[in-house]
Amino acid sequence: MNIPFHRVIKNSLYPVSIDDDRFSVEASFSFQPKSQNMLLSHLHIVGTIRVDCNSCSDEVVLDIDENIDFLLSNGIFRGSDKDFDVVEVLDNSINLQELLLGELELIASDYYHCKKCDGKIFEKEF
Ligand SMILES: [Zn+2]
Repeated sequence: MNIPFHRVIKNSLYPVSIDDDRFSVEASFSFQPKSQNMLLSHLHIVGTIRVDCNSCSDEVVLDIDENIDFLLSNGIFRGSDKDFDVVEVLDNSINLQELLLGELELIASDYYHCKKCDGKIFEKEF
């Protein structure tokens, strides 16, 4: 689902889901304008993701329930923000599926261990 950057409705919920071999999640975005070309974005993700154990490569299924806040910049953003990560969108268009996938890839790129290798994976703070 694509939304034109300047047509975002403040505080409205935009649901998006992904269900493939690795990710099975329901998510929703909400946005608040911060400036002309900047949106404060809130993403809530619930579901499961499948990752490989970093030690033995066995599959690890993680239950996730995450809240992620970030800034969405319309176009290239030069600079940095001290509070939030900045994600750039191009063509004045927000692709929710792609944004969600990007955040899921970030979560999945972390190190995980299966129960066999480490019984304490769920103590990890996301
Ligand atoms: Zn393992």
